[in-house]
Amino acid sequence: PKRILSGAQPTGQLHLGNYLGAVRNWVSEQRQYDSYFCVVDLHALTVPQEAAELRAATRRTAALYLACGIDPERSTVFVQSHVSAHTELTWLFNCLTPINWLERMIQFKEKAIKLGEEVGIGLFDYPVLQAADILLYEPHLVPVGEDQRQHLELTRDIARRFNDRYGESLRVPEMLIRKEGARVMSLQDGSSKMSKSDPSDLSRLNLLDAPEKLRDKIKRAKSDAVMGLQFDPARPECTNLLTIYQLLSGESPEAVEARFADAGFGRFKPILADLVIEYLRPIRERYDAIAGESGYLEGILREGALRASKVAGLTLERIRDRMGLLPPF
Ligand code: ATP
Ligand code: MG
Repeated sequence: PKRILSGAQPTGQLHLGNYLGAVRNWVSEQRQYDSYFCVVDLHALTVPQEAAELRAATRRTAALYLACGIDPERSTVFVQSHVSAHTELTWLFNCLTPINWLERMIQFKEKAIKLGEEVGIGLFDYPVLQAADILLYEPHLVPVGEDQRQHLELTRDIARRFNDRYGESLRVPEMLIRKEGARVMSLQDGSSKMSKSDPSDLSRLNLLDAPEKLRDKIKRAKSDAVMGLQFDPARPECTNLLTIYQLLSGESPEAVEARFADAGFGRFKPILADLVIEYLRPIRERYDAIAGESGYLEGILREGALRASKVAGLTLERIRDRMGLLPPF
């Protein structure tokens, strides 16, 4: 079968944007593909992290993959830093990647502005590590949200450059960006995407937020004063909330617009809150069960790291050989 690979950073908590843009698609696609899902803790280190919190967030993120429906019998779930090939290949790719390719990266520019003096080389190099993450597993497809398009283009460029220089040996993966849910926006600002790293927790609906918290965040979400709700690019906040409703309810956009054509936010928001709360309830319950079962998650991550290391090790060996590194004796 064809292979897919994707991941999320353990920076804080997975939110509804991660779910609708990425994890939900991983779950539905795992039946069809040989799937690898990774918690990219080395990526999280590109911005300042507290050690204990990073460890906790790494476990939480992996447990949430499972709670959302990733089946460890079918899919390989692992922690990036448990497979040392990722960092080793990053160095090899660093030596192949022009600086100006990285200087164009929008995410770097956006995150760098927020960090000021604290910008490390790791943040700049983030897309090269991501290219290593992906190309090690030779996936056919990489399912991600819209914000990762530029990074995946860079991954493809690195693969092509490697192939040009050293002979065809790396698969150039396709990106799989589903239109629906590919870019869920902040609840506080319809022009920026929902992000784990947004300093305002009110900007996002975390998968593990308590029901009252979800209700409160939706109540306080930015809206407009227009009566009647529509998908309308001129009304980004309205469009975003309707999109969340539409994706979680499974109704068509037309049906959703018709239903709320005469409604204001005062009527719509509590309905949306009920829907989000009920949708996330089973995820939170499964999460609690997984987190409460001592040794279960560890076993899956141990097995995942073994499986991933095997695949990654073979690719790395081939790359090392192509680049002229002497094999160890
Ligand atoms: P951070 O702010 O730390 O970068 P993030 O919210 O962007 O966190 P990532 O771990 O970087 O989350 O991304 C994990 C996956 O979720 C990626 O596939 C990404 O494209 C997707 N994703 C992130 N934010 C959104 C969003 N707002 N809408 C849809 N998909 C998203
Ligand atoms: Mg991100």
